[in-house]
Amino acid sequence: MILALFGPPGCGKGTQAKRLVDHLQTVQLSTGDMLREAIKRNDSLGVKAKEFMSQGKLVPDDLMIDLIKTRISKSDCTSGFMLDGFPRTVAQAKALDQMLRNSGRSGIDHVISFNVPTEELVERLSGRLVCQNCGTSFHEKTKIPRNPNTCDNCSGNLIKRDDDKPEVVRTRLNTFLRDTAPVESFYKDLNLLRVVDAVGPETKVFDRILGSIGAGN
Ligand code: AMP
Repeated sequence: MILALFGPPGCGKGTQAKRLVDHLQTVQLSTGDMLREAIKRNDSLGVKAKEFMSQGKLVPDDLMIDLIKTRISKSDCTSGFMLDGFPRTVAQAKALDQMLRNSGRSGIDHVISFNVPTEELVERLSGRLVCQNCGTSFHEKTKIPRNPNTCDNCSGNLIKRDDDKPEVVRTRLNTFLRDTAPVESFYKDLNLLRVVDAVGPETKVFDRILGSIGAGN
């Protein structure tokens, strides 16, 4: 099965992706994580991506399309994968469609769209803490770690992402509305869009997601 998680920054894609990976035994391809790894390695992609990411802008399509093309050709993606953060523009969506066709694969099965009101997104992002080691998200007010700045899962260090600063958050949300929201109509027209109410307890949202793709209990 090929899935794509779609939604604005702070909508809970990353958190739900981890649950879905366990439940569906699939591979998570988070382009944000891949870019952050490239920045840590300080390779040529990382150097280019950093400039855009630090301003809350999208990394250019050609770089992102190459990155995903290489990744999905690896053997762990043969029986399916779950995209998290890609495609983020209509050009990326079209390129993905083309690369799946060219490699003789079936297309995307479901695009799961996370629906969260903007005020809640700002609140979630401004208090977000992320584990540097395993990527689990916490929140200063609503999902407080048991020990300050320490991940409940792996005892890794919790940090605030550079792009969760209020001024960058605003740009990221505007970028989403301008460049990424049109991707939703693209998939709606193809009858692949599954819109999920992503407000409420994580377990409830997870059940709604499974229901939306016909994988519920
Ligand atoms: P995320 O972790 O998904 O919120 O992504 C963090 C940042 O990485 C975004 O704000 C973009 O700057 C960049 N990024 C991630 N995925 C993409 C993509 N598919 N296209 C362009 N930029 C991306």
